[in-house]
Amino acid sequence: NKNIVITVDGPSGAGKGTLCHALAEKLKFDFLDSGAIYRILALAAKKSGIDFTNETKLAELGRNLDVQFITSNTEIHVILDGENVGDQIRTAEAGQNASKIAIYPLVREALLQRQRNFSTPKGLVADGRDMGTIVFPDAQVKLFLDASAEERTKRRVKQLQEKGFNANFDEILAEIKERDFRDRNREIAPLVPAKDALVLDSTSLSIDEVIQQALSYVAKHI
Ligand code: C5P
Repeated sequence: NKNIVITVDGPSGAGKGTLCHALAEKLKFDFLDSGAIYRILALAAKKSGIDFTNETKLAELGRNLDVQFITSNTEIHVILDGENVGDQIRTAEAGQNASKIAIYPLVREALLQRQRNFSTPKGLVADGRDMGTIVFPDAQVKLFLDASAEERTKRRVKQLQEKGFNANFDEILAEIKERDFRDRNREIAPLVPAKDALVLDSTSLSIDEVIQQALSYVAKHI
């Protein structure tokens, strides 16, 4: 009689998004992309000229955000104040900006209930950094997906190149390390596996192997 939640935490570029989509599709669960919420707040702050260090104003903006996630076919559209901002929040800069505002306790607090509201009787797969530790501490299944920074960089470079973008390995590695550092060392809700999480290291696994391991673990626990 409690809503089922599967949490998937880990550093950026470990393949959480792909894993979460696969799990949600297989299990017919909803999907929460909590990183998108931090990215949207950073974008909204930028648009309204709020400084990334103004914790109080950022939190106030976070409480009042008018954001919708609309799923059509396989795509999820992100709508901020009626505008589709999907592309704007997916840039590397948006990711860095998100991690800058994510260090503030009042900001995290302001976004907490919004994230918890994604949990329904349908079941939820929640993707983020603190899903298993803070947002859904009672989740039935907790996964932590890791991979070396070099491997995550390689995947990111490949992804960008496939989309026809230029990608410099060293630049992307530096960016990934900078964001990891900020996420792992912040005082509130740092990136760590929950005590009861299964840690999967995908460095030398294919995405299919990760999905298979996760699915068999999930099957034993829900
Ligand atoms: O997952 P994604 O790369 O979209 O997240 C962007 C940033 O938002 C992360 O680097 C992190 O700083 C922040 N974030 C967070 N807690 C979450 C999800 C994302 O602090 N649950």
